[in-house]
Amino acid sequence: MACLFCRIAQNELPHTRAFEDEDIVAFADINPQAPVHLLVIPRRHIATLNDLDAADDSLLGRMHRVAAELARVRGIADDGYRVVVNCNAGAGQTVFHLHMHVLGGRSMTWPPG
Ligand code: 5GP
Ligand code: ZN
Repeated sequence: MACLFCRIAQNELPHTRAFEDEDIVAFADINPQAPVHLLVIPRRHIATLNDLDAADDSLLGRMHRVAAELARVRGIADDGYRVVVNCNAGAGQTVFHLHMHVLGGRSMTWPPG
């Protein structure tokens, strides 16, 4: 299987896992951009945000609830954190398996670069 995040979801590559259930896996970003930088992914391969359909609505809702729960557990929920999905190369997407970045533990500026 070629997809990096499919392989991580299937435990075929080393990573630091933060959460898993039947549909979702979360793990530490290998190149963290903040003191807390986690990635929340669906187990199923979905390349980009453009590839969602109505059947994925509950999955995406659940991914956001996982992100919020991880933020709470990591102690960044009250100070604030950022959830980012980069869609396609122009937005900086480099891994074409849908993922939500959860970033926190430092102050952030707006707009992002
Ligand atoms: P993107 O730029 O596609 O939105 O984000 C991809 C993210 O995946 C980057 O933040 C990058 O550091 C992370 N990443 C790339 N390869 C690996 C890997 O092998 N393991 C982990 N844990 N993160 C990775
Ligand atoms: Zn994949």
